[in-house]
Amino acid sequence: MEIHEVVKVLGIFILGLSVGSFLNVVIYRIPRDMSIVYPPSTCPSCKSRIKWLDNIPIISYLLLRGRCRYCGSHIGMRYQLVELITGISAVLTYTKFGFGLDFLFYFYFVGSMIALTFIDIEFKIIPDQINFGGLFVGLVFSVVKSIKEVSFEPVISAIVGSLVGAGFLFFIAYLYLKIRGIEGLGMGDVKLLTFIGSYTGWFGSLFTIFFGSLVGAVVGVVLIKLMKKDYYYEIPFGPFLALAGLIYLFFGEYIEKFYFGGTG
Ligand SMILES: [Zn+2]
Repeated sequence: MEIHEVVKVLGIFILGLSVGSFLNVVIYRIPRDMSIVYPPSTCPSCKSRIKWLDNIPIISYLLLRGRCRYCGSHIGMRYQLVELITGISAVLTYTKFGFGLDFLFYFYFVGSMIALTFIDIEFKIIPDQINFGGLFVGLVFSVVKSIKEVSFEPVISAIVGSLVGAGFLFFIAYLYLKIRGIEGLGMGDVKLLTFIGSYTGWFGSLFTIFFGSLVGAVVGVVLIKLMKKDYYYEIPFGPFLALAGLIYLFFGEYIEKFYFGGTG
């Protein structure tokens, strides 16, 4: 790697850390119905306003040893984890898609998946702001691609992807409710598929459902064995859908080739 490439990757990593810092605000505030722009960051414990100098990802954590400057209470490791994951994801997104307009759209998807994963694990919901915000951005992205490629194909693919994924999951949820009389799937998961499908198209959205269910089922069985109780219904589905969607975003062409065959 040449030196300017190293500097570029480092810059993108730092950009990712800052986005991760913002995602922490999203993860904390959206499920609590708080504004994500106002007020500026405060300590979750004593509500003191955090100075921008104390808000630098990772570095402030090391300097303050994970404590609030004012009240000394511990700031959870989750904040650092989210920042680090987002920083690494930014570099991976750059490696795959390069740096340009596409990067912004793809990184929006990646960042949303990270945020909703942490929200769904803690609150068992996927906020509409993330699902419908993502669907909107996904559709805008498809329009941009259509203009670039002078073809309706990307827009059609995005619309069909949203409808097929969400429609299929809605149908499963409906069957589940009819047959077992319990709500096994949340509408948040169905709405999430409109977002993911707008990026991945119909095949990617179906892959997301099947692969997400498969991994979710394996993890569910393992957790039941470990916990020795009926843990299954407490496991949110969103993180598995997010993981599967991300895998498709990064490896979709290989998955399609594997599935449909073909040469070259
Ligand atoms: Zn504090």
